[in-house]
Amino acid sequence: MKVNQVEMIMSAVRPEQYPDNGFPEFALAGRSNVGKSSFINKMIGRKSLARTSSKPGKTQTLNFYKIEEQLFFVDVPGYGYAKVSKSERGKWGSMIETYLIEREQLRAVIQIVDLRHPPSVDDCIMYDFLGDYNIPTIIVATKADKIPKGKWEKHKKIVRDTLHLRAGDPIILFSSEKGMGMDEAWKEIESRM
Ligand code: GDP
Repeated sequence: MKVNQVEMIMSAVRPEQYPDNGFPEFALAGRSNVGKSSFINKMIGRKSLARTSSKPGKTQTLNFYKIEEQLFFVDVPGYGYAKVSKSERGKWGSMIETYLIEREQLRAVIQIVDLRHPPSVDDCIMYDFLGDYNIPTIIVATKADKIPKGKWEKHKKIVRDTLHLRAGDPIILFSSEKGMGMDEAWKEIESRM
C-alpha cells in the first residue's frame, strides 16, 4: 500500500474512547526500544508521526493511526519495562488485555522482535497470550540491517523456534533503516483486511 494520508486520531485508555467507524485494526506490540515506532513510521512513510511512547513516565495509551480511510494501526505501549511501577504495569496489563481480547475490529497483532537476539521471556509471554486468545499474529523481526545477510536465516530460525511459531503466523524480516520487508508486511496486512 502506498500511504498518502495518515491521521493520529486519538489516544484511548478505555473502550468508550476507541474509534467507532468499524475499520479493520492492526495492533503493534513489542518490548520497549525494539523499534516499534520506527516500524510504524516506515510503514506509513512519515519521519516521526509515531513517537516513542513507551518510555516510563509517559502516558500509557493506545494510539490510533487512521490510514487512508481504510484501516487503523493501534500502537500499544511497549512491554517489559522493569522501571514502571507494579501498579502502572497492572494498569498497562488490563488496558491492553481488554483491547486485545474484546476488540472485534482487531484483525491481527503485529509483534515486533529484534532479529539480532532470541525473543525475550516477555516476547514469549506476549506471543503465548495472543495464542491463548486465537489472535492472529504477524511477527516482524526488525533491525535486520544490523546483521549480515548470510546470518538472516539462522536468526530467523531462532526467532521461530524460541516463540514456537504457530502455523499461519508469518515471520517477516524487516529493517526500518533500509525499508526492507515493507512490501511483505503490507501484503500480510492487506490480505487480512
Ligand atoms: P520503540 O521504543 O520500540 O518505539 O523503538 P524505536 O523505534 O524508538 O527504536 C529504538 C532504537 O532503535 C532507535 O535508536 C532506532 O533508531 C533504532 N532502530 C529501530 N529500527 C531500526 C532498524 O531497523 N535498524 C536499525 N539499524 N536501527 C533501528
